[in-house]
Amino acid sequence: MPSLYLHIPFCERKCIYCNFYSVENLDSRGRFLQALLREIDLRADQLASDPEAPTSYSTIFFGGGTPSLLSPEQLGSILESLRRRFVIAPDAEITMECNPGALTEGWLADYRSLGVNRLSFGVQSFHDDDLQFLSRIHTASEARRGITAAMRVFDNVSLDLIFALPGQTTERWRSNLREGVALGTEHISAYALIFEEGTPLNAMRLSGVVSPAPDDLDAEMYAETMETLAEHGFHQYEVSNYAKPGRECRHNLGYWERQTYISFGPSAHSFLRGETRQERWANISSLTAYLQQVEAGTLPVASRELLSSQLILEEMVMLGLRSRGVNRAEFRQVAGCDLAEYAPNTVAMLATQGYATLSEHVLSMTPKGYPFADRFAVELLVGRK
Ligand code: SF4
Repeated sequence: MPSLYLHIPFCERKCIYCNFYSVENLDSRGRFLQALLREIDLRADQLASDPEAPTSYSTIFFGGGTPSLLSPEQLGSILESLRRRFVIAPDAEITMECNPGALTEGWLADYRSLGVNRLSFGVQSFHDDDLQFLSRIHTASEARRGITAAMRVFDNVSLDLIFALPGQTTERWRSNLREGVALGTEHISAYALIFEEGTPLNAMRLSGVVSPAPDDLDAEMYAETMETLAEHGFHQYEVSNYAKPGRECRHNLGYWERQTYISFGPSAHSFLRGETRQERWANISSLTAYLQQVEAGTLPVASRELLSSQLILEEMVMLGLRSRGVNRAEFRQVAGCDLAEYAPNTVAMLATQGYATLSEHVLSMTPKGYPFADRFAVELLVGRK
């Protein structure tokens, strides 16, 4: 299920923890839109002569940045261009990320009529002091109002929440989860706060202004997440993602299952999984340079990498263990032997101690194993040594 991704690189204000590429000056939105449409044409022309390129796409994702800063007219012109240049499946999942502080409620029905059928709200917390600390532009009541309005128009709405905030208690985190559930959403992404290098938040950590939550508290909140959401009928299908049956994000599953995705916009990353080659490339992470290159008729690619078998194997195990499992047939195809022969001791330990289940086709983490998925992936990959 190949996918298309569009990076909309504008935010009204940067959040202190965020390391996604975006700019706070919104003035060049019109010029960016024209460049994005041009990039879509340039890329479609290039893929038309690539025999390994997908023939159709089953998901589209507007991420960023803040896609909800796009008016329905702007969004409509992007979708029209994608539909003109690519074959989009009739039942395609089309997601748009929404910032509750940059959402025009009157536009929701227009987005829906243009074909958007899934919204993902960056809520992060239902407590105003948490939101102020994270420098989000919205308040808790704006988030509640935006989600409630969205759910009158969309039946597929997701929330992002962040735990392990400095000073946060498990009880407070639980209240966020409960409020998310009570609003009736059927998909929740729950991430631990990460102190990303280069962010203001990390500078605060380095200067001693804030400290990360202790590991045991972080683990307690993670366990609380799994428990509370399971109680309410959500199942975990990735380390940080929970959904009611049938509400898993198809676009993100495509990333984790290493399906092709073609991306547009500054800093956007793409992956092409062909029969004879697997390739990743990244667009330039500068709006100015992106505009100049695309306006000159050049694809704005900053780096490109052909994946070796070893890298493919590593990605397959790392991503697989974090989501729905490592496909044994695909592993065999690349490694030349079964996973259970490649790392017999680790596979046996995971299965017997309840960290993973090993079926005929897949090795997948259990809820007990998910917190340690990255560590187990490393152990599996060095299995032969
Ligand atoms: S709104 Fe989203 S993309 Fe923009 S700075 Fe905040 S977290 Fe990052």
